[in-house]
Amino acid sequence: PAGMRALWRVREDAAGTATRMPDGSEAWPGWEDCAVPPARLGAYLRDFRALLAQHGLRGTPYGHFGDGCIHVRIDFDLLGEDGVRRFRRFSEETAALVVAHGGSLSGEHGDGLARAELLPAMYGPELVALFGRFKDVWDPAGGMNPGVLARPARLDENLRFAVLPREPVDVVFAYPHDGPGGGGDFSAAVRRCVGVAKCRVAGPNEGAGVMCPSFRATGEERHSTRGRARLLHEMLAGRAGQAGGPVGRGVTDPVVTDGWRSTEVRDALDLCLSCKGCRSDCPVGVDMATYKAEFLHHHYRGRLRPAAHYAMGRLPVWLRAATPFARVLNAAARVPMLAALAKRAGGIARERTLPALAPETFTHWLRGRQASEAPAHSTPRVTLWPDTFTEHLAPEVGRAAVRVLEAAAIGCAVPEGRVCCGLTYVSTGQLDQARKVMRRTLDHMQPVLDAGGPVTVLEPSCAATLTTDLPELLPDDPRASQLAAAVRTFAQTLEEQAPAWTPPHLNRPVTGQTHCHQHAVLGDEADRGLRERAGLTGELSGGCCGLAGNFGFERGHYEVSTAVAEDELLPAVRSAPPEAELLADGFSCRTQLTHLTAHHPRHLAEVLAEALDQRSEEP
Ligand code: SF4
Ligand code: SF4
Repeated sequence: PAGMRALWRVREDAAGTATRMPDGSEAWPGWEDCAVPPARLGAYLRDFRALLAQHGLRGTPYGHFGDGCIHVRIDFDLLGEDGVRRFRRFSEETAALVVAHGGSLSGEHGDGLARAELLPAMYGPELVALFGRFKDVWDPAGGMNPGVLARPARLDENLRFAVLPREPVDVVFAYPHDGPGGGGDFSAAVRRCVGVAKCRVAGPNEGAGVMCPSFRATGEERHSTRGRARLLHEMLAGRAGQAGGPVGRGVTDPVVTDGWRSTEVRDALDLCLSCKGCRSDCPVGVDMATYKAEFLHHHYRGRLRPAAHYAMGRLPVWLRAATPFARVLNAAARVPMLAALAKRAGGIARERTLPALAPETFTHWLRGRQASEAPAHSTPRVTLWPDTFTEHLAPEVGRAAVRVLEAAAIGCAVPEGRVCCGLTYVSTGQLDQARKVMRRTLDHMQPVLDAGGPVTVLEPSCAATLTTDLPELLPDDPRASQLAAAVRTFAQTLEEQAPAWTPPHLNRPVTGQTHCHQHAVLGDEADRGLRERAGLTGELSGGCCGLAGNFGFERGHYEVSTAVAEDELLPAVRSAPPEAELLADGFSCRTQLTHLTAHHPRHLAEVLAEALDQRSEEP
């Protein structure tokens, strides 16, 4: 099934994928959808390619060749005046070519603004004038679709990119694949969206797909990846309009005029769960989680932020400070009035239960154990990343991972010093702070990086942050990409470090969800293999759990958060057989399941560790 899905995806994503040339440069649907009689297709394509070469353009034709209908994205430069002139000349000459081959300027999509001006080449000027007169009979005031088919606008008017700023916008992330010469162009990132609306699909995702949970929960365009990309486009257009007045033919008044301070854009991004689903599922890799973090950084720069940003964005600091008082604080959190006060102060939804703090951190446990017990494996082969969640909220996951890794003869150690991937700062757009935390982390990780071993990260969202956000926020620090390359998930570690190890055989079905960041960034091949070897059968669902770190805890998000969980995860759990093991490697997913069901979800490491313990107790 995975192979079949991959094959279908090639077909489904073609319209988006073709907007990037093999060297990463942009290509556009400026000459789309013409059709010629199938018998003339070969001759037409030869002439078409020759015309492309003559204009110094590149494009990859695809389409319904049996019907003679061709789609193509061409690397027009629609940002420069020369490029737009070339686009115009090429369109006129290709229209003449299509007509010479007995074809039609559009095969299945209609003519629209892109081709209406060229219709006289196909129908002749008299007939096209007659279209106009016929329309006038029914629309004497010319109020219906003015400038579209009858007396159309020029094909190089109203070009979408004419309104975007020409100079790169000052941004924090590196955007390594957007813009010429190593990226860094936020406008190029935003104009990735070609509008094919794969992010607006309702109904269960196929396979492990994730994009776009907020659209699926709300059904609203502005809460889809595309809607957000359009609003960011308008924001950039508004900035360009303000800076230098209208910059292109057909430019209309800007819609969003207050740039990064825009509340419309902030509201559209508010329900983005930063699940990174679009980063992998969108055919052109629109990465809204990154754009949201970038936007929040600029939007709140020098201003008071929502309480949730201070409470949950700085979670690692609060948890570290609170750990010595864990028992008292946990008891206080069980007193409804105190819990309500804490939630109100922290911008947390009142429906949420505050997670309990572990009295002993994972690191403290591991170091204490190593000091008191003779280490089973004197030379650690992997560094176990003490992410904030495993460290302070779920150390049982870390203990289980150590149990399993050691059973596979993989010794492990935690790094010296305070390390943190910066996830909570990134997701709340506190990017200066995130970079500070990341730099400090890289300093502490220097010995580990020098030693060159793998870094095992149990929490998928932290692994994804280290793999993607870290090198994109610190592009000039080579240690960032070094650490990113060293990151391994729990299953990847076992696969690479102990390929011959046989896990305990559990022989039971599984239910639950592949973490959205794992799906988008890390991949789940190793997890599938490990589950199979452990006799854990069945598929995990796609989608997002809806909690997504701080998102589902924030006041005002509870309804959407639970609606997202209802999309795929909760139905999958309900329909699972009673003996099914409920797997969720992410702390958020486990929390969401604990809040919304009566089940007890576990990390795969916990399930395997329990089986190992049972095996060793057997007579
Ligand atoms: S964001 Fe949505 S509409 Fe835009 S390219 Fe991606 S899938 Fe298509
Ligand atoms: S990060 Fe997730 S919620 Fe946000 S736009 Fe992308 S798919 Fe949608």
